[in-house]
Amino acid sequence: MDDKTKELIRQCRKIAGRHRVDDGKDFRLKDTDPGDTGHWSEGDKALGEEALAQGKIALATMQERLYAQDRWSVLLIFQAMDAAGKDGAIKHVMSGINPQGCQVTAFGVPSAREQDHTWLWRCMTELPERGRIGIFNRSYYEETLVARVHPKILAAQKLAPSLVTDEIWSERFDDIRGFEKHLARNGTLVLKFFLHISKGEQRRRFLSRLDEPEKNWKFRMGDVDEREHWKDYQEAYEKTIRNTATKDAPWFVIPADHKWYTRIVVAAAIVEALDSLDLHLPEVDDAQKAVLEEARKRLTKAKTES
Ligand code: AMP
Ligand code: MG
Repeated sequence: MDDKTKELIRQCRKIAGRHRVDDGKDFRLKDTDPGDTGHWSEGDKALGEEALAQGKIALATMQERLYAQDRWSVLLIFQAMDAAGKDGAIKHVMSGINPQGCQVTAFGVPSAREQDHTWLWRCMTELPERGRIGIFNRSYYEETLVARVHPKILAAQKLAPSLVTDEIWSERFDDIRGFEKHLARNGTLVLKFFLHISKGEQRRRFLSRLDEPEKNWKFRMGDVDEREHWKDYQEAYEKTIRNTATKDAPWFVIPADHKWYTRIVVAAAIVEALDSLDLHLPEVDDAQKAVLEEARKRLTKAKTES
């Protein structure tokens, strides 16, 4: 690894470290500032963008190794309030990588078929294969967020009343921790991103969806309804992060009022995590070398062909 890459990884570790929660027990959302931009100020946004470009190049190289090695998979989970910039962060950060090694799945309101299975089922079928990066735009975490904020969602889940007790949320946290441990033990690196936007910035972004015709399509009245449950959502996020932030599957609580900063932190966290894997191109053994030599001979013999 050259010095420039080493320095980049050092920077990524520093940036990501600031926002990583891998032991949730003392986590409080109010200790994190949605307007934070780390050691950059709005004025050196251009420097930040340069850092993001560097991070994306490193990511592309690492992804090629991940794919060639075919040993690890990477699951990136994005959760946030509406308009926090999940879609934009996914688009920007992953834009330099090979689409063949990456798949994005968005999880909306479960279908009737999905409701006939346990809530983890639809996510299990979309997990990334070895060598791939899987991105979940929302996930099973909705089961301790939207389902907790709206009792009618839980009531519609076709669970027998004996299974819906006061323990249901701690049982769900338990299931999630167990599931993520299973993934980690079997070679899936799990990173979870909560894009933390302030209520004021969400309001500004919703208003721009109304004011700017090319953004009108993004507007949904339902998003304004959900905003009225802001406090409940913040509490549900805090409890979720407290109970599911682990070494195996850390949360990154990422300030989301400045989109450029959000994207840098997401990229830094992924670069840092991939660097922790022993990624390398597969070694060519002697038998394979002999095959390559034989191929070279056959191809050079044919060089008279046009
Ligand atoms: P969007 O991501 O803006 O397209 O919206 C998807 C919607 O689906 C959001 O309102 C989510 O809260 C909702 N959703 C996602 N997962 C679930 C779930 N498991 N149960 C109920 N609603 C969900
Ligand atoms: Mg939405």
